[in-house]
Amino acid sequence: MGKRILVALGGNAILQPGQKGTSAEQVTNIDKTVKQLIDVVEKGYELVLTHGNGPQVGAILIQHEMAKEAIPAMPLDFCGAESQGLIGYMLCQSIRNECAGRGLKKEAVCIVTQVEVDPHDKAFRNPTKPVGPFYTQAEAEQNMAERGERWIEDAGRGWRKVVPSPEPKEIVEKEVIRALVDQGTVVIASGGGGIPVCRNDQGQLYGVEAVIDKDLAGERLALDVGADIFVILTDVSHAILHYNTPQQKPLKKVTLEEMKKYIEEGHFRAGSMGPKVRAALNFVKKGGGRAIIARLDQVIPALKGEVGTQIESTL
Ligand code: ADP
Ligand code: MG
Repeated sequence: MGKRILVALGGNAILQPGQKGTSAEQVTNIDKTVKQLIDVVEKGYELVLTHGNGPQVGAILIQHEMAKEAIPAMPLDFCGAESQGLIGYMLCQSIRNECAGRGLKKEAVCIVTQVEVDPHDKAFRNPTKPVGPFYTQAEAEQNMAERGERWIEDAGRGWRKVVPSPEPKEIVEKEVIRALVDQGTVVIASGGGGIPVCRNDQGQLYGVEAVIDKDLAGERLALDVGADIFVILTDVSHAILHYNTPQQKPLKKVTLEEMKKYIEEGHFRAGSMGPKVRAALNFVKKGGGRAIIARLDQVIPALKGEVGTQIESTL
């Protein structure tokens, strides 16, 4: 039928540049996004959602750090879980309110999601993802020496801890997520790329200090729920060739082969557009129907194929 759709929401769905991050700001942004998503639901699509969590988990890390004399600071996997619950709560409430306002009967639920990664993933030997607050050089050096962490100087703004960004292997809760989607519930899952976990020799799960890219985890989730369409919503209208140069050219309809070539040519930055195009390409390559990268406020025209970067296997 082509009616199941996985939407990955970028950071701008929850917080806009220049905002402080108050609860009211986040609720207002989410309500605006949700209106569009419920337009999609009203058209008969089954909706599965995932989202970023950068600013929220950053804020939680700062809170833990500042309060650590009174309450023990929690590790990154705990903070990731907190952020999933928080954002999932806002989304679920907004979805229920929007549906109620339209007389639509729809359940919405957030699954606090663990995503298994390989403890031997090469990312663990080369941490690249900055997380949490900025520190002085002296504090950074102390943490590097005492805890064996990796810290970097971030563009003159101070020192930040960097953590590994491993590939998502398997969504631990995928069966229950699929069952809920099958019964018609709007499911929010794998927020912030999911909580990275590994398995020990006995098969027991434990959290690790890492951040999984939310678009790559979104691809995994899209395949696991059998989505027909994978939509990545962000703050730019397209994946763009020669980005930020006078020759820049937005990509409209692209074949798998073309996209593969553009990735190899290095048009898309690591950590931002890079994982989006990779996730979109892999979804289609692995049998998903269609993948779209589009601007947050253009969901409906993007689904109609009118805007955004569209990757389709049949092209
Ligand atoms: P999100 O929160 O939606 O994941 P990101 O900041 O991670 O947002 O990714 C979107 C950003 O990717 C854009 O704002 C843009 O600055 C950047 N970007 C890097 N390379 C490209 C490219 N080739 N085409 C379009 N955007 C690009
Ligand atoms: Mg991103």
